[in-house]
Amino acid sequence: MSSTNTPRRAIIVGAGFGGIALAGLLAKKGVSVDVFETHGSAGGRARVIREGGYTFDLGPSWYMMPDVFAEYFTLMGEDIHKHLTLQKLTPSYRVFHGAPGTHHDFFADRAQNHAIFDALEPGAGNRLNAYLDESARQYHIAKHEFIYKNYDSFFDFFNKRVMREGRKLEIWNSMERIISRTFKHELLRKVMMFQMVLLGTAPKDAPGMYRLMNHVDFDLGIWYPQGGIGEVPQAMVRIAEKHGARFHYQAPVSRIITEGGTAVGVVLRDGTEHRADLVVSNADRHHTETALLAPTEREYSDRWWQRRTLAPSAFILYLGVRKQFPNLVHHNLLFTKDWDRNFREIFNYHDFPTDPSIYVCAPSKTDSTVAPPGCENLFVLVPISAGITDTDAARAAWADRTLTILETNMGLTGLREHLQYQRVYSLREFSADYHSFKGTALGLAHTLSQSALWRPNNVAKKVKNLYYVGSYQNPGIGMPICIVSAQLAYKRIMGIADPHPLIEL
Ligand SMILES: Cc1cc2nc3c(=O)[nH]c(=O)nc-3n(C[C@H](O)[C@H](O)[C@H](O)COP(=O)(O)OP(=O)(O)OC[C@H]3O[C@@H](n4cnc5c(N)ncnc54)[C@H](O)[C@@H]3O)c2cc1C
Repeated sequence: MSSTNTPRRAIIVGAGFGGIALAGLLAKKGVSVDVFETHGSAGGRARVIREGGYTFDLGPSWYMMPDVFAEYFTLMGEDIHKHLTLQKLTPSYRVFHGAPGTHHDFFADRAQNHAIFDALEPGAGNRLNAYLDESARQYHIAKHEFIYKNYDSFFDFFNKRVMREGRKLEIWNSMERIISRTFKHELLRKVMMFQMVLLGTAPKDAPGMYRLMNHVDFDLGIWYPQGGIGEVPQAMVRIAEKHGARFHYQAPVSRIITEGGTAVGVVLRDGTEHRADLVVSNADRHHTETALLAPTEREYSDRWWQRRTLAPSAFILYLGVRKQFPNLVHHNLLFTKDWDRNFREIFNYHDFPTDPSIYVCAPSKTDSTVAPPGCENLFVLVPISAGITDTDAARAAWADRTLTILETNMGLTGLREHLQYQRVYSLREFSADYHSFKGTALGLAHTLSQSALWRPNNVAKKVKNLYYVGSYQNPGIGMPICIVSAQLAYKRIMGIADPHPLIEL
């Protein structure tokens, strides 16, 4: 389809970030868009639960790459600041490391980080600045040359520009190697590498091009939308609806209808049929292929799926606590001592990690609306392996371990005693809520063989007029990245080959 051949009607399966963002783009272009979503609200993995005066973001909490969000709103003809009250967090996060209670804060401020790096490793401050200058340059190249580009063949990726710039991006080198040759101090190495966990990838398996994540973290900063992350998909839905997109909730799709090898609509679980010129799936790719399409229409075999490197799952506790903890900031990370063993365990179907790393988000530090007065809203996440057995007995033991570590190593004294609300979310919920393969939280890890050209494409090979959007496709995992995937799907549908971010529709 070329831009002169805009489809009249589109159906999108799922209202995650990718689905919502694409619904907005197509609707603004004049396409009649229907989004069918299983759950009662939009946002997908970024939905919200409200209980007993607490508002918990179910999944994401790091609002990164503010430029990508802002540019999407601009593309939709909106000023992001009229929809979201964004605050840059300072410090960006606190890292607990070494003796119980010991911590260091990190900032999106070159001078502050220079001092911290130098204090831990003389000379590391200057090396950090040089490293970040290069990461910033690479972010710019990636954003303008690679990320917003659809790939179809080897030659699309390995063109002259990529060959020239790709060498500098150190595609063939791992993040672990790049960081380890630059910094010696154990804490600094971990601080420079943990962003790979946000991409669901072990630093030793993450290609060097992801060093741009250090620019995202240390230069662009970590932000927070007042009211919580859930405000972001809500705002995007409002804008898409303004342009005529229709969101249908509690409307699970049970099948994509194909006729003569072309997608022509969907059947909902209630048996109703809906027709369109094209269908886009924002659901997890494994679910789309194995449940919504006929076996002959699948692109990937069971063997292919079994051989993928899956991003970890997560053991999550949403805690409402009748007490506040002065030693926490908004984002808090507790790094395990034996980092290598932890990565081996969370990528190799090991049981709950022997000595886990733990992330604690306390949005009540920044936002009084997410917890009752005097209380703390805590989102606690332990990365654990996908594919492990998640029973009631296992999760009770995991919760007990996690709370003990928080009380002793993070110094959250009295946590258990003051618990007012507790809810667990783990492999079973990821499978039930998103049909997630082996209960992975994030989908396909960002190894080299699952990045860019090698990540599943956003256009179906065997079914005409079937497209994909969201984290399973290129460019991958993360809210802003799924917004980029919506631009890529839009370009694909409209036949736009331009590799740069869209500036108009
Ligand atoms: C615990 C956790 C923490 C995270 N932390 C961060 C973070 O801090 N920062 C960040 O940027 N990213 C983070 N992420 C990643 C980010 O949330 C995801 O990459 C992104 O939200 C995925 O968006 P998506 O477009 O792929 O859609 P999803 O969010 O995967 O949504 C897909 C939608 O499709 C719907 N669906 C599925 N099947 C059907 C069907 N048959 N019929 C109808 N609807 C269907 C689902 O209900 C769902 O609403 C985190 C993710 C998790 C799970």
